Amino acid sequence: DATINKIAAGEVIERPSAVVKELTENSIDAGATVITVEIKEGGISFIRITDNGSGIDESDMPYVFLRHSTSKIKNADDLLRIKSLGFRGEALSSIAAVSQIELVTKNTESFTGVRYLIEGGVEKGMEHIGCPSGTTFIVKNLFFNTPARRKFLKSPQTEAGYIQDFMERIAISHPEISFKFIINGQIKLHTSGNNNQKDVIYHIYGRDITSHLVSVKAEDESFSLSGFIAKPAISRGNRNYENYFINGRFVKNPIMYKAIEEAFKPYIMLHRYPFTALMLTIDTELIDVNVHPAKLEVRFKNGEELYSFLYKSLKDTLEGRDL
Ligand code: ADP
Ligand code: MG
Repeated sequence: DATINKIAAGEVIERPSAVVKELTENSIDAGATVITVEIKEGGISFIRITDNGSGIDESDMPYVFLRHSTSKIKNADDLLRIKSLGFRGEALSSIAAVSQIELVTKNTESFTGVRYLIEGGVEKGMEHIGCPSGTTFIVKNLFFNTPARRKFLKSPQTEAGYIQDFMERIAISHPEISFKFIINGQIKLHTSGNNNQKDVIYHIYGRDITSHLVSVKAEDESFSLSGFIAKPAISRGNRNYENYFINGRFVKNPIMYKAIEEAFKPYIMLHRYPFTALMLTIDTELIDVNVHPAKLEVRFKNGEELYSFLYKSLKDTLEGRDL
């Protein structure tokens, strides 16, 4: 049973950035408006995530660490209309199976909080504790019991870089949340949560990109698109500056890359790629996010329609502008 848990864990938790992603998304789903992420040694030895969200009720305590336990999906119908970032109920059990977790949480409605310890999937203790509403996860020594997986990790700097990439994207896609990200005691990112996406882009990418931004807004019956692109003067030799989000979720989606790059083609040199921070909103019944455990992939029921919508929206935005 423990082995099965570890194998399954590998699907979701490949590296420290996956832990940060899953826990941060849980904080967002819990309605947090302030989220602090702190890592040491690239997140391999230490990750701490603190939020001011709903907290976890004491009575749910051992259960949230069981496989397929989720409070976000109640029936098969819900799976067709996923509004939360999480829904598989796999993350906490997978992380707990391969690390040492300390969880401190207080549900908004409870008088006292709880501190819960779990290591390698085995409960190590639980006690009442006074604490503010919200949740803190401390994840230590990732893959301490799976040395092969630990060996597969890259250097702490590289792992920290993956986490920073994630933090920047989540901050861009959630300007309404204040994020603080700390590496080895140094603040790397601190957004205000004032819901101004341009401020977040400035904070992360600096003046160069921010002074070249063009705002994008488009809508039809099925889709709505908003966010920013940079004028073609700002371009890259790879797709690292292309940020796409669908219903608040960062995705790498071939339709989005293709449609937007195609619209940029007349303005941009061959093999150069634009800066984008574009949020697509689409009826949850028209997409399937339940394709891949990390949820980077999505399937569309009307992919061709989406392509045309994106292409046209960007073409209209770029056309006749002083680029
Ligand atoms: P999922 O997010 O798919 O539901 P997880 O394993 O990530 O599954 O989390 C299990 C459950 O634990 C969630 O459904 C939620 O009820 C609870 N939970 C996890 N993290 C938090 C948090 N930061 N605040 C409140 N509840 C949380
Ligand atoms: Mg989750």
